[in-house]
Amino acid sequence: MKYKFKPETIYYENNIENYELGKILLEKYKDVPKIQIESHNNIKQMREKSNSEFLKMKRNLIIGVRKTHKFVENHKVSDYLVPYTSSGCIASCMYCYLVCNYNKCAYLRLFVNREEMLQKIIKTANNSDKDLTFEIGSNSDLILENTITDNLVWTIENFNNTKKGKLTFPTKFAYVDDLLNLNHNGKIIIRMSVNPEYIINNVEFGTSKLKDRIDAINKLVEADYEVGILIAPVIFLDNWQKLYNDLISYLKENLSEKAKKKIFFEIIFMTYSYVHNAINKEAFSNKVEIYDKNKMTGRGKGKYMYKSDLKKEGEIFFKDKLSKYFKENKIWYIV
Ligand code: SF4
Repeated sequence: MKYKFKPETIYYENNIENYELGKILLEKYKDVPKIQIESHNNIKQMREKSNSEFLKMKRNLIIGVRKTHKFVENHKVSDYLVPYTSSGCIASCMYCYLVCNYNKCAYLRLFVNREEMLQKIIKTANNSDKDLTFEIGSNSDLILENTITDNLVWTIENFNNTKKGKLTFPTKFAYVDDLLNLNHNGKIIIRMSVNPEYIINNVEFGTSKLKDRIDAINKLVEADYEVGILIAPVIFLDNWQKLYNDLISYLKENLSEKAKKKIFFEIIFMTYSYVHNAINKEAFSNKVEIYDKNKMTGRGKGKYMYKSDLKKEGEIFFKDKLSKYFKENKIWYIV
């Protein structure tokens, strides 16, 4: 399965020409109109656009050099969240947390200094007593990014023989074929995010269909990758029990026997914000309303999360359903 993205305009920092990937991308998109920018962090033309142009903005591509390389400790599947080769996305999930400040981080930015970023990971891994796992996909979707840059292929090929450490990332995309024949050496954990088909079609615009995501999981397991399933973000629509019960039973029916033996689960309840609400109102017509003020409560300035009794009900529901359909599989966490 292949995907082809042709940007409308490329905004680029001049110094990308000094990097191998920068040269490759400039050549690949030589026919696309280009605008030179001072910094990928501050693009005047983007800052001035209105919320209604949100989707149009995502048809552009920003290419620059990543300057911040700060690792943030994490205590879930990984030990560190690591800024990596991209930030933002060309898909448009209505809850995407990268929307935090859409004029700065919702559209796809590619960073061409991948050698520097991977070297820092390898050095940190080798210097640690523990076998560390690095989350490299918390700022974008790397499977989608790989269709533009081949960065995942490059990363796996340059990480598979390192002494220590693992890499992990989540995805909502099924474009995994380029990864299947790579020698990953058991050092890569891929977590496929799933939601009921109704939510995928009406909230996760531009992402892969549920069936395709499940096919991708089966292929990755067959290729001996370590694979997890993220049921995320759980959205408590009025018929949520039915939607998620059907989803879990669909997983049971459609995952391969090998996948059913190996996968683990993570479950994350949706959080939302005032900014999401403002953008979604103006950018999407006929949208499903995912913010329900009766079900959510504040969690800091302009941010919302589900009320604790609903989260508790959800937790009991998912533990119950997963123990029925997937009783041997580990649930890493429900949050
Ligand atoms: S696929 Fe992921 S990164 Fe892209 S819009 Fe959806 S949630 Fe955001």
